[in-house]
Amino acid sequence: MRVGVPKEITGGEQRVALVPDAVGRLEGFAVAVERGAGEAAGFPDDAYAESGAELVSDAFDGVEAVVKVAGPNDAELAKLKSGQVLIAFLQPLTETERIERLRTAGVLAFAMESIPRTTRAQAMDALSSQATVAGYKAVLIGADRLPRFLPMLTTAAGTIAPARALVLGAGVAGLQAIATARRLGAVVSGFDVRPAVREQVQSLGATFLDLGVVGEETEGGYARELTPEEQARQQAALEERIPDFDLVITTAAIPGRPAPKLIPAAAAERMRPGSVIVDLAAETGGNCELTRPGEVVEAGGVTVVGLLNLPSEMPGHASQLYARNVSALLEHLAPGGELALDWDDEITAGACVTRPESA
Ligand code: NAD
Repeated sequence: MRVGVPKEITGGEQRVALVPDAVGRLEGFAVAVERGAGEAAGFPDDAYAESGAELVSDAFDGVEAVVKVAGPNDAELAKLKSGQVLIAFLQPLTETERIERLRTAGVLAFAMESIPRTTRAQAMDALSSQATVAGYKAVLIGADRLPRFLPMLTTAAGTIAPARALVLGAGVAGLQAIATARRLGAVVSGFDVRPAVREQVQSLGATFLDLGVVGEETEGGYARELTPEEQARQQAALEERIPDFDLVITTAAIPGRPAPKLIPAAAAERMRPGSVIVDLAAETGGNCELTRPGEVVEAGGVTVVGLLNLPSEMPGHASQLYARNVSALLEHLAPGGELALDWDDEITAGACVTRPESA
């Protein structure tokens, strides 16, 4: 199978779908990499050539599969041909028009988001690998914006008390944020509506914040959306507790739904001046009422960071992990480089979002 790796062109995306090391490890595949595709992530053309890739001007041309990070934009959609395999973050639950266009074009499209979150599919789980990057980066951004240290310091000029950090939503990103904030020396609390998370939060050395709301876990391991009454109770509890914290990282999400509003404006405004909220849910509207997706806003001395696509801000390791996920999916769909699709297989069937009748 010949696989194309285009340069990402949408929204300042700096990641690349395959890194040179991953190209070298793929057995039975020929890889065509668009010139400059890895540059922003720190992988020059020479490194791809050394790994055995062919450098091309158009990675959609003459390939059986195209692997990308972001879903295709209009120009890229126009290049995809019937029967071609496409692997990317296709946002199938929200980008329905794009999925329809892929279907009409006869593309065999696999969405990284739709890979089942099972043990067998762990190596392909790009939601987890990229959430790990986002959770780590969120703490660094928060630490950078805070006017204070995170760790406790004892110096000749006096003793500094450690910062207090709160992480709301303790899935993959949240747990990484908790671990990172702990490593930097903050005193950390975590909260999630899924009851199973309490122990995970505590095992990282953080305190589980009891907000008096306990939700349920759905079959896929995700949280069920709270009822309006539960959400109101959560907001009220948070409004009371939030002034205790210097840094709040929010990651709460329900797949395919707008982010739950956890922090009303009134609660954010009760925080001490200089406090920082980093809202990782900004992609789906934000967990804080003050969040403006893509922006950093100040309200009453509180900074609310709603920056988008944090994994792209750490493109080297984010791409390395994503490339591992993409390679594992390629090897699953085409063992030894020969496409062999088993529609009874839960990974193949689960990840596929459009397919031509012939597939
Ligand atoms: P996610 O990004 O969809 O959501 C982030 C977190 O927000 C979740 O923990 C969710 O419970 C929480 N949340 C939702 N509403 C909330 C609210 N109102 N208040 C507070 N928190 C709220 O989740 P994710 O990080 O993608 O992980 C979801 C699940 O998938 C977890 O159970 C995780 O362990 C599981 N998972 C399993 C595997 C595997 O088995 N291979 C791999 C990765 C993740």
